[in-house]
Amino acid sequence: MYNHPCEYCSGGRVECVVMPRELIRVGKTGFVALEQAPIGVCTRCKAKYYHASVIRQAESLLHRRRGRVVKVPVGRFVEAG
Ligand SMILES: [Zn+2]
Repeated sequence: MYNHPCEYCSGGRVECVVMPRELIRVGKTGFVALEQAPIGVCTRCKAKYYHASVIRQAESLLHRRRGRVVKVPVGRFVEAG
């Protein structure tokens, strides 16, 4: 699915890693947590690549409202005095 040279560094190779739970951005503000997702990760710079089928499933989860829904705390970073 991946196994190609990295576009972001020289000498890096993209390998498939199955992530237990990967947060994937969909559109400007959407996020889904896709479980057991095969993600491409560069062996050198650790850049991540998402195959079209992974993106499609993430979009499907968001737009068709499939899957479990969990609440996620959201807060603005506040500089410590
Ligand atoms: Zn790289």
